[in-house]
Amino acid sequence: MEMSGEMKALKIDRLSDIRKLFQRNVVPTYARFNVALDHGDGSYVFDVAGKRYLDLGGGIAVCALGHANPEITDALLEQSRKLLHVSNLYFTKPQAQLAEALVRLIGPGRCFFCNSGAEANEGLYKLARKFGHDQGRYEILTTDGSFHGRTLAGIAATGQEKVKKGFEPMVAGFRQVPFNDLEAMGAAITSETAAILVESIQGESGITVATAEYLLGLRKLCDERGLLLLLDEVQAGHFRTGRFHGWQRILENVAGDFQPDAISMAKALGGGFPIGAFWVRETYSDLLSSGTHATTFGGNPLGCAVALKVLEVIERDQLAENARELGRFITDELQRLIRKFPSVLKEVRGFGLMIGLEFRTDASGFGAAETPAALQVVERLHAAGVLTVPAGTSVIRLLPALNLTRPEAMEGLRAIEAVVAELV
Ligand SMILES: *Cc1c(COP(=O)(O)O)cnc(C)c1O
Repeated sequence: MEMSGEMKALKIDRLSDIRKLFQRNVVPTYARFNVALDHGDGSYVFDVAGKRYLDLGGGIAVCALGHANPEITDALLEQSRKLLHVSNLYFTKPQAQLAEALVRLIGPGRCFFCNSGAEANEGLYKLARKFGHDQGRYEILTTDGSFHGRTLAGIAATGQEKVKKGFEPMVAGFRQVPFNDLEAMGAAITSETAAILVESIQGESGITVATAEYLLGLRKLCDERGLLLLLDEVQAGHFRTGRFHGWQRILENVAGDFQPDAISMAKALGGGFPIGAFWVRETYSDLLSSGTHATTFGGNPLGCAVALKVLEVIERDQLAENARELGRFITDELQRLIRKFPSVLKEVRGFGLMIGLEFRTDASGFGAAETPAALQVVERLHAAGVLTVPAGTSVIRLLPALNLTRPEAMEGLRAIEAVVAELV
């Protein structure tokens, strides 16, 4: 193909130039912020004009070891010199080792590898369908405010109208009930129900934590009614909460036996390299037998080698502990801000480095503007050189790298305090 003179001459090192190329050539599914990022270093990223930002969003809970981590780079280089991809027609060592590592972290069972969270959940839906098939059971109950990905089945599973709108009819076999409401879940089960799927901590709708009673109650309900209990740990997983998975953190001081039947993972699993997976408990681990499920890229040696390195560094550097301690520090500081600015801030929620800060949308600083409060705060923080992630209309999320330092956390907190003070 011949490159036009215009294209060669086009300089694309400014935000406005990059935006123009997006407007012309990229499907406009995302409402992007007016920031074009160029490179990163640990918990900092730099835009194309050289402005530095402290990244407390972590690529939406993905960049577990921060940006441009040299150990990830080395793992990528080393594996890429051997094999990027060979297909699942063959065995490879990185996939074997990653599966073993995940089983060790979760419990007896087996893993399937894919490329994203939506795809990992798709595997859970197929597992549930296969499980219930011979008894004519196919339905999966999920919860209001949940998020499970943007595929057709994913939006049917997701408990938010905005993701479904315009894509009806929905894939059959999904129904939502209120979150953290055992009674509602129990009442919703029919002879066609095969499984229940919940997030241990709802991320996209604003960091809502499942209670220990809820998780234990769901397990009991599933045992009594013969259903699979499926957990979506795509966002809450991978040591973000201080334990490998969110459910392990929620239940760590609670007596009683709890094991989910299957768990989806993605986001931080590869520290930024796209990889997803699901784990299924031993009892059900041969339901998806040879030929029933597959993906070309899933479990490729490159992704698995990087994910293994990420797990190794998290354990070696005790980053789960860091997430737990720094998370407690940030949450305490945000509680202090709530007491200081009660007319602006409502609540802080979460565990470890999965934190939601809810604003009062009627705070005078938000004015009568149409822009939701959460977006206004995120944009003000951009101006102050801090990246955060909005959730819903009134919550900002902090999902930083697990190796964030205390000085970095303090820098972020100072910026948040300054923005909150402006909104009084
Ligand atoms: C992000 C997310 C997904 C979807 O993952 P993708 O990689 O975007 O497909 C599913 N579930 C939860 C809880 C998520 O946070």
